[in-house]
Amino acid sequence: MNRTFRESFLPPTRLLLGPGPSPVASEVLMAMAGQTIGHLDPSFIGLMSEIKTMLQMAFATSNEATFAVAGPGSLGMDACLLNLIEPGDKILIARNGVFGTRMCEVALRGGAQVIPLDFVWGTPVDPQSIEDALVHHRDIKFVGFVHAETSTGVQSDASAIAAIARKHGALTIMDAVTSLAGIPIKLDEWGIDAVYSGSQKCLSCPPGLSPVSFSPRAVEHVKQRKTPVLSWFLDITQVMAYWGGDKARAYHHTAPVNSLYALHESLRRLHLEGLEASFERHRAAHLQLLSGITALGLELLVDEPYRLPQLNAIKIPSTAHDAQLRASLLNDFNIEIGAGLGPLAGKIWRIGLMGEGARAENVDRLLNALKEIMSRHANEALSMAS
Ligand SMILES: *Cc1c(COP(=O)(O)O)cnc(C)c1O
Repeated sequence: MNRTFRESFLPPTRLLLGPGPSPVASEVLMAMAGQTIGHLDPSFIGLMSEIKTMLQMAFATSNEATFAVAGPGSLGMDACLLNLIEPGDKILIARNGVFGTRMCEVALRGGAQVIPLDFVWGTPVDPQSIEDALVHHRDIKFVGFVHAETSTGVQSDASAIAAIARKHGALTIMDAVTSLAGIPIKLDEWGIDAVYSGSQKCLSCPPGLSPVSFSPRAVEHVKQRKTPVLSWFLDITQVMAYWGGDKARAYHHTAPVNSLYALHESLRRLHLEGLEASFERHRAAHLQLLSGITALGLELLVDEPYRLPQLNAIKIPSTAHDAQLRASLLNDFNIEIGAGLGPLAGKIWRIGLMGEGARAENVDRLLNALKEIMSRHANEALSMAS
């Protein structure tokens, strides 16, 4: 028999300090290993309501339409955009990295007239430019932006952007894939209308689920559509019948039962620790990393006020070898970090301190490994020169 069938797959033991997925706690993995039950089992329905409540707490919202889409963050992006936009609708999308760019592509496929607003990668979205664009184009229905740009390590001022959008009568769609549980999110206070996140970043859950939330205003907008939502699967008016209140739940799709066990456990752990404590732990890990890399002569790409604690973009010095260092971290130290993307390819390393990753012992392990590899490379360069 083919070797592939004789042996089960055993994953190597890695420390995930890249842009996601992040390390998963053994309690979460164990929760996932529970027996599969029916997705309409009364006890499963109890689990779903608890997940909903814990997601509402994490997003700081009372939105009824809060649940987890059965797919990764990108499917949450599809869900938010495709439920809201109808062909011909104008949407303003801020592009300061990979994910704002992806948002534009999704909106285009949904038939929207996309007005992209570009910012240099490594800088935040400028709320004033959003306002100028909204004044210039009078009929913009939606404003889309990324709260925490994982491709650059930048956070944008969600509260200011949402306030401007609201002032001009536009609904706000926010990507919170990397921000949720890593930095504060206050959906109701800020007035965000649709948000999507991901399970595998600061929630430290395996990939494959996307928490989403829609304001009552957004839900009303979806109900008033003239055309059906392009995706049957993502149509929130139907998904809500499955995730919704205490009324009889109707079959819509088979929920990823075991993945939801994992999400429940990771949310439970988050709220046991406390949101504020989680933000503080991410901040502390970031500051520890910053002081360590500064001692190694390395610098961050992003200006201080806009830095994400959970995603650190480090400028690659001219003396270092990008791919070689990342390969050595993985092969010799079992540590995964991320490469730069697009215009930042070869220019930055992306170090994620997300969820379980944001702990002092992990930062120490990474710093020691970096130190060793960099001095090894320096010695090699010296011996080549002599
Ligand atoms: C990771 C990420 C996504 C996409 O999520 P997937 O789970 O990879 O589909 C979207 N936006 C941001 C900001 C991300 O970091």
